[in-house]
Amino acid sequence: MSAKLIDGKKVAESIRNQVREDVIQWMDYGNRRPYLQVIQIGTDPGSTTYIGAKTKACQDVGIGTGTDRLPDTISAKELKQIVKKYNESNQIDGILVQLPLPNHLSAHDVIESIDYRKDVDGFHPMNVGRLAVDQPTFRSCTPAGIFELFKYYSIQVKSKHAVVVGASNIVGSPMAIMLSRENSTGKATTTICHKFTKDLTQHTISADILVVAAGQPNLIKGEMVKEGVVVIDVGINRVADENSDKGYKLVGDCDFESVSKKASWITPVPGGVGPMTVAMLMKNTLLAAKNSIYPENNK
Ligand code: NDP
Repeated sequence: MSAKLIDGKKVAESIRNQVREDVIQWMDYGNRRPYLQVIQIGTDPGSTTYIGAKTKACQDVGIGTGTDRLPDTISAKELKQIVKKYNESNQIDGILVQLPLPNHLSAHDVIESIDYRKDVDGFHPMNVGRLAVDQPTFRSCTPAGIFELFKYYSIQVKSKHAVVVGASNIVGSPMAIMLSRENSTGKATTTICHKFTKDLTQHTISADILVVAAGQPNLIKGEMVKEGVVVIDVGINRVADENSDKGYKLVGDCDFESVSKKASWITPVPGGVGPMTVAMLMKNTLLAAKNSIYPENNK
């Protein structure tokens, strides 16, 4: 078998087109333009690149945005005061603190300081908790984007064996919750693997759907998967490449060549899951503006 490619760029574009139309309609009703407030701490080049992509996407769909660039010496107290100001602003719908944070700041504390009704990343414990009990919420953008890919390509999830490699709070764990819990889109039998999983292959080889989010280039090889598996490669890793002007190339967590020979569907890196994450952020920001999942938030 040779896998068909899942085109995240194409699907993300169709979602952004829909958000753009919805923003126009929302404003036609007399509402103000939705607004995403981004906070960057320090000057990490990866963060700057991601924020650039998010800013561009906001401009593309007609969502207002601004980035508050703060020094990496900022104290937790000062940062929380700034977040509080944005929480209280009735001009701001979504707040995003770009991760990772400098070592002296706790991501948990900072995320919890965001008003959960503005947590468009879907990282706040309130939103993760609602996800776990299958209630409407801001679904974490990367897993939510993967479900849009399943929908677009009519990939059935229900009753399948899904294996998630990686258990982070932002990708692996919410992905596993959605796959196992969600009545409307999930209901797969789900295995979640992490660094302490013994014999990873024993699990990956039995997967009908394999989602890999470990941040380890070439972790999954062809001999670790079965024929016909659907492979979602979330990993984005820089590896040295002397043929590239930049001196590196981006690869996923799967050895694309050997895995794609056995898979039925596979996401490429880049151009697979990445564009979906940003598109879902746009969707969540509009949702925050519409205030439909937390109606007690009377702005
Ligand atoms: P983290 O480093 O926070 O988490 C990685 C997870 O993978 C952890 O749960 C870790 O286990 C597990 N893990 C690491 N090595 C192994 C291994 N050898 N076997 C099994 N499990 C392992 O990363 P993120 O979740 O933030 O990101 C994962 C990857 O996805 C990265 O490459 C990142 O760049 C990419 N990414 C891509 C996005 C996109 O839009 N395409 C969005 C977000 C991330 P343990 O819990 O035991 O430490």
